[in-house]
Amino acid sequence: MKMITRHVGFISGPVNVGVIRWENEAVLVDTGLDDASAKKIIAAAREAGFSIVGILNTHAHADHYGGNARIRKVYKDLKFIYAPAIEETIIRHPILEPVYLFGANPIAQLKGKFLMGKASPAEPLPAPVIPFGDLNIQVVSLPGHSINQVGYACEGVFFCADAIFPEGIVEKYGLLYCFDVEAQRKTLNMMKNLTTYKMIVPCHARPRQNISLLVEENLSHIQEISEAVFALTGAPKTSEALTALLCAQRQIPMKSIWQYHLHHNTVKAYLAALLKAEAVSVFVEKETLVWVRK
Ligand SMILES: [Zn+2]
Repeated sequence: MKMITRHVGFISGPVNVGVIRWENEAVLVDTGLDDASAKKIIAAAREAGFSIVGILNTHAHADHYGGNARIRKVYKDLKFIYAPAIEETIIRHPILEPVYLFGANPIAQLKGKFLMGKASPAEPLPAPVIPFGDLNIQVVSLPGHSINQVGYACEGVFFCADAIFPEGIVEKYGLLYCFDVEAQRKTLNMMKNLTTYKMIVPCHARPRQNISLLVEENLSHIQEISEAVFALTGAPKTSEALTALLCAQRQIPMKSIWQYHLHHNTVKAYLAALLKAEAVSVFVEKETLVWVRK
């Protein structure tokens, strides 16, 4: 565990887990993917000599809440598990993620631990500020990557969840998962002008003082994909055909059933944004839902 300020630090890993300490107690920001991630967090807590009394989840992707269940089992006097509205429902009912990706009773291939964490109790965040000891933890709205993602800030450290992805991730995956393109753009533009925090901790990147370059890269990725999707809509096509063309054109890897669903849903997020901007239209033709440039 690395402390950033007197009371705020993080445990680094595939998902950085925030730790906000007050005396010998701590609140976590996210809990990693599974029992193994939880065990690592518990070991770090024991070594540092604090007990875990609360969990603040940023959003309901399995790699952010999958450790909740194990932590709750070990820390019987855990006082709260909070998550943003809607996200908290998915944490209580993890089947909802494969349900929204598949759109019907999901197939087994979408029920692996990366898309469906262990269920955990969770309550909606009760207020925009969560008091803990003498500290105040601010809730910061960051929708776009998921329906109602939030970040948490305390003592000048901002845990910004999956609002931004690091250098290299775009090159590796070619397409960043997005639920709502317009909301994601707004979130990134808000983050571009952030001067309030002395340290920003993304979940999948190293903490840094200045994120403006990273925000710009994330924004230009969105712009590039939006333009690429639009360019493919010259003739009416299904969202599935557009996804296949986009992936082929940009060499975006799609090797598994779950990757197909993440990419296809992301392309639908772009199409929905283009529709709202009146750049494309959508209609049913020959029993097929097709999208075409206006
Ligand atoms: Zn996520």
